[in-house]
Formats: sequence, C-alpha cells, structure tokens
Amino acid sequence: MAKKVLVIGEVRDGELRNVSFEAVAAGKMVANGGEVVGVLLGENVSGLAESLIQYGADRVVTVNHADLKTYTTDAYQQALLQVFDVESPEGVVLGHTAMGKDVSPRLAMKLNAGLVSDAVAVEMDGGEPVFTRPIYSGKAFEKKKINEGVVFATIRPNNIAAFEQDTKRTGDVSTITVDIKDLRTTIRDVVKKATGGVDLSEANVIVAGGRGVKSADGFKPLQDLADLLGGAVGASRGACDAEYCDYGLQIGQTGKVVTPDLYFAIGISGAIQHLAGMSNSKVIVAINKDPEAPIFEVADYGIVGDLFEIVPLLTEELRNVLV
Ligand code: FAD
Repeated sequence: MAKKVLVIGEVRDGELRNVSFEAVAAGKMVANGGEVVGVLLGENVSGLAESLIQYGADRVVTVNHADLKTYTTDAYQQALLQVFDVESPEGVVLGHTAMGKDVSPRLAMKLNAGLVSDAVAVEMDGGEPVFTRPIYSGKAFEKKKINEGVVFATIRPNNIAAFEQDTKRTGDVSTITVDIKDLRTTIRDVVKKATGGVDLSEANVIVAGGRGVKSADGFKPLQDLADLLGGAVGASRGACDAEYCDYGLQIGQTGKVVTPDLYFAIGISGAIQHLAGMSNSKVIVAINKDPEAPIFEVADYGIVGDLFEIVPLLTEELRNVLV
C-alpha cells in the first residue's frame, strides 16, 4: 500500500548529515509509491530543504524556532508531534543516531506506532516494508514487519545507499509554526571536544587502535593513516580504558556502531564486545602481532606483525600510490 512517509532530517553545524539522505532513500521504499516528505527542524533550516528534495524527497516541511537550534528531547518531541498533527504520516523514518535513538521511541509511543530501530536494510513484501536489523550484538539478523498503524523506523548510518543527487529535482517547501513551551532542558552552550576531522559514525574509512597501540602517542601513526585516507580514528574500549584516547572514539557494544567501507583494527584483539560495533564493516583489515587473535576471524585481510613497523610502512606505500 502506498504511504505518506515523513523523513526527519538531521542538521548538525548548519549542515544536513548524510544519514538524512539515506533516510530519504529508505523512506521512498516504505512509501511504496506514496509521498516522501522531508522534515527539517532548527533555528533557520529552510536553506537546507532543497538538498533533501534533490536527494529524493517530494516536498519538505521546515520548522524554524530558536529552541530547536540544538537538539533537546523536549523541544524536538514537541515540535515533531505538532508536525505529525498537521501531516498525519503513515510512515516515519530517521537516522539511528544519538538524536534518532533518543526521540524515536518517545514519538512512536505517542503515535501508538510499532518502532523498528537500527534497520540496516529495507525490502518490500506484498507492498509492505520489511526491515532487517541486527540482534545479539550483530551476530544475527532478524526481519521485522509492522502489521498495523504507522510504520516507524530508524536506520543505521552507512547501510542504505542514498540516491544520486539530482540538482534539477524540485519540490514544494513549506513552513510549520510550532508552539514550544515548558522546556525542562535548555542548552546554554555547546563545547566541542577538539577531536575535529571526520565524524566517526559517518566515516567511510576508520583506523581504529587498541591496547596494542600502547600510548596516546602511539595513535599518531594511526591518525596519519586516517588523514591520508580521509578517514576517522576510532578505538577499542581497551585503548580508552588505558587513557590512550577519549571515550568518544570507542567502538563496540557500549560505544559507537560503525559500518565504514574500510575498517582497520590495529592492535585490537577482537573481543565480542568490540566486534559488535564494527563487524558489519564492508572490508576489515586487521594488524596484530598475535596470529591467533580473534580479530583475524572477521578480517578480510590480516597482517601479522608489529603495528609500529607496519602502520608507517603501509601509510608510506599508500601515500606513494594515492598522492
Ligand atoms: P586487548 O584485548 O588487550 O588486545 C590488544 C591486542 O593488541 C592483542 O591482540 C595484542 O596481540 C595486540 N598487540 C599488542 N602489541 C602489539 C603490537 N606491537 N603490534 C600489533 N599488535 C599488538 N570493548 C570494545 O572495544 N568496545 C566496547 O564497546 C566494549 N564494551 C564492553 C562492554 C562490556 C559489558 C564488557 C564486559 C566489555 C566491553 N568491552 C568493549 C571490552 C572488551 O571485552 C575487551 O576488553 C576490549 O575490546 C579489549 O580491547 P583491545 O582489543 O584493545 O585490548
């Protein structure tokens, strides 16, 4: 059945995150020939509407409000529920990001909708969407279908391909005025950690280090490799616990879940909790001096040896090829 699907875009630092475009592609599947309506919330987001249309949304609704400048549960929930009142969606899709994870269960509950979280694929079965999502920390996958009511889903970044941008595509952009009140949370200031560079959860290449890296300085060659490949540095919990790097870089069951095209696991043993965050990466390269390390069981390419010798050599070789 054709559905009207709202796709909630995610704006960070004045730009749409890639997962917003991936959500449009997923939304198109869920809509099954129906309308895909992009929703953008922020202080002044109307300028971003066009790109959502160019990536496949049929039209876009913007909500501009000073209280939506930075995400808060209260304000976004209130605004989105008012958008839902106006638009009466039959489907809702957004990214399985920190924002998506926080706001989606609250919205789904208010809509009395079934929620499929962390979907990595969508297919159609008898005109209805079927979502694939990982279970048991990524060791298995299940397929979920919502049989009645609003179809609500969050999608894992980097799994569902966005459409090619079509700069000739046009669509209507309208604004909904919302009333936001009685906020329990206000953001007074956002202080960024000085990690800079590429966003780990959306990076195509991740160079992750573990306890084997042995120190904060030991991460420097990994950073060089990541910089060369336009990637981000990540870490195991072992490395974070040892204070070699910030917990914001942790990948795994209790860290970030990532699915880059290329994942380097360097000096990481491959504990199940780490694999839960990265085993769905498209190509995994492991560098470890222990040939029995479990990381080699999930790696596509394995290099047995001392990371302090191999990583600089690899970077040098790649630099010769790429630069
Ligand atoms: P280690 O297991 O100590 O491995 C270090 C590796 O480096 C070894 O394989 C060694 O051979 C190799 N090495 C050493 N020196 C060199 C060298 N010079 N060259 C090459 N290789 C070298 N872990 C996570 O990563 N993410 C999580 O989200 C997470 N969540 C957890 C949740 C729970 C509830 C629990 C109980 C644990 C969790 N853990 C998590 C911890 C996990 O169990 C492991 O302890 C952790 O992943 C180990 O980190 P590591 O591989 O860096 O360290």
